[in-house]
Amino acid sequence: MPTAILIVAAGKGERAGLSPPKQYAALLGRPMLRRAIQAFEGRRDSFIQVMIGPGQEAEYAAATVGLDLPAPAVGGATRQESVRRGLEALAAAKPQFVLIHDAARPLVSPRLIDDVIAALEAGADAAIPLLSVADTLRKQENGKWITVPREELRRAQTPQGFRFAAILKAHRDHAAREVTDDMALAELAGLKIAAVPGEETNMKVTNAEDFAMAEALLSARLGETRSGSGYDVHRFIPGDHLWLCGVKIPHDRALEGHSDADAGLHALTDAILGAIGDGDIGQHFPTTDERWRGAPSWKFLDHAASLVRARGGAIVHCDVTIICERPKIAAHRDAMRARIAEILGLDVSRISVKATTTEGLGFTGRGEGLEAQAIATVRLP
Ligand code: MG
Repeated sequence: MPTAILIVAAGKGERAGLSPPKQYAALLGRPMLRRAIQAFEGRRDSFIQVMIGPGQEAEYAAATVGLDLPAPAVGGATRQESVRRGLEALAAAKPQFVLIHDAARPLVSPRLIDDVIAALEAGADAAIPLLSVADTLRKQENGKWITVPREELRRAQTPQGFRFAAILKAHRDHAAREVTDDMALAELAGLKIAAVPGEETNMKVTNAEDFAMAEALLSARLGETRSGSGYDVHRFIPGDHLWLCGVKIPHDRALEGHSDADAGLHALTDAILGAIGDGDIGQHFPTTDERWRGAPSWKFLDHAASLVRARGGAIVHCDVTIICERPKIAAHRDAMRARIAEILGLDVSRISVKATTTEGLGFTGRGEGLEAQAIATVRLP
């Protein structure tokens, strides 16, 4: 039976004072929610369900472009109610385990996720990541400050893992009790709880200071910077439109090709593949393969980006140059940048599209074809 991953992103972001809510804000160029989801991607025999707040559908769609996810479930007034609704939404899939994770902890490591699942597989009803307390704690009692012994205290993190049927029952039975996390309900229900070591870097990103620290941590994980270049040419043929950088442009010619012949996205795909040393677009998407006949080229770019992610890396900058006399690119440049940013899940400030002519010289000057060059910069662990 599968393991369900329930990612809770239903917060309204009031604590951080952010608009849009913090889970949709960019963390080193990628929405925090997208990072949290991608921390769980690619696990064998598991599926991801996201809980969002009412009215956050558009923000969710923008943050998850290109990810293969079921429709989000919509949360309630409190975190507890949101999780309960999420669990009810998962009930039909009958998962064996569920991992409940806050979108505000996007830095969770594969090791921690593995540990939580392993504790459940070893027979626990519930598994919780815990950390000791390093700081001295003080509390006020009868108007006086006193030091609290910290040896017995632990900080709880997510993902918290549960036997699915047990935590669903606990949520249903104790819906009237207000708790801050799911483990509190597991305690009320008398479940057998195992502890696994938490990790300091699995921090909860709440305020502006946390954002800065999380970005520094993410950045430190990506120590190697690489660049790749790409180049592509397609021939003009009779037609009434062409595709360039993911944008459909009405024109009195078309571009010839096996796919949609988007030379801009082909050059950029090759640049990204070049940066990670993973062959070229023709190797990943052979023109002899009928699956790619007429294919939209954003699929090629998306695939290259997924290969970067699979290595734990990040694309940090892309620069595309289109070389042709016509069509004129300037009017479409912003739309092209926005579309590439959308496909890659990056902020548009990290995407550049430029255009030039060859002063009437060569095959581009004679209008026989269109040329594209690209450079991509990638950071890898
Ligand atoms: Mg091509």
